[in-house]
Amino acid sequence: MAIRPLVILPDSRLRLVSEPVGAVTPEVRALVADMLETMYDAPGVGLAAIQIGVAKRIVTIDTSKDENAREPQVFLDPVVVWSSEEKRIYDEGCLSIPEFYGEVERPDRVRVAFRDLDGATREIEADGLLATCIQHEIDHLNGVLFIDHLSKLKRDRVTKKFAKAAKRGEAA
Ligand code: ZN
Repeated sequence: MAIRPLVILPDSRLRLVSEPVGAVTPEVRALVADMLETMYDAPGVGLAAIQIGVAKRIVTIDTSKDENAREPQVFLDPVVVWSSEEKRIYDEGCLSIPEFYGEVERPDRVRVAFRDLDGATREIEADGLLATCIQHEIDHLNGVLFIDHLSKLKRDRVTKKFAKAAKRGEAA
């Protein structure tokens, strides 16, 4: 297992549409182990594979927020198959957009179909933080960031800020 470097805005890889996982090979399992280690180290409640530069439809989540009682969840090829009419607003953040937060409205409950690490097809119904988190991560698989759900003004402001920071980093 290894902690992998995070892909940070404005890296264009964040805009890629990730590919289906295919067979659950030892490489896929190793990637998932690295994703979990990277997510816990950050620390974050969710991670999509593209955030460590791998364009595969894999999401790891742990909303337990208790490092002594970890509850890692792994979703291969997750798809939202149903979402509630009721919405929920949450002040979201993202490991690829460090130290920036913004309120995003999403369905309060979703049902998600996915494959587990044994390759079995499963479905869960999520609400609360898990529902928010899984929708945020599935967005990543489609090249969508939570800032895309904010006003154009806010999005432009944060995009500019990170572009400037990246430029400074290159110059240093
Ligand atoms: Zn994110």
